[in-house]
Amino acid sequence: MKCNVSKCEMHVDHIKPVSLYPELKYDPDNLQVLCRDCNLEKSNKHETDYRTDAQISRFKNYQSTYIQKKRAVAKKLSRERQLKDEKRRARAKRRAERKAKEKELAKGIFNKPFVFKTKLRKRSKLHVSK
Ligand SMILES: [Zn+2]
Repeated sequence: MKCNVSKCEMHVDHIKPVSLYPELKYDPDNLQVLCRDCNLEKSNKHETDYRTDAQISRFKNYQSTYIQKKRAVAKKLSRERQLKDEKRRARAKRRAERKAKEKELAKGIFNKPFVFKTKLRKRSKLHVSK
């Protein structure tokens, strides 16, 4: 703020003009609030930073809090993804174990031709008696 007027049309000014520093167009550290008149007067003629030290430190504080929050969210998301992956792997392992067991069981049944033959004989007897 330059003139401390705040009850009029307010503008967001690029401290370093966009016409000269296009790469700073979306840099929040390059923004300040000016009244319409101050902003139009400044235009791209100079790069005066009218922010007070309090405003700058509040901005830096907000920015670091924001970064910390963003990091915390990213950490939480990656932990959730990790847990999901672990669950998926455990499920796949159980499925593989069940399949192996079924395979073993089937092998056990067919490795006892005796049982199989008896069943067949019983069936053929039934057929004969009919
Ligand atoms: Zn002003």
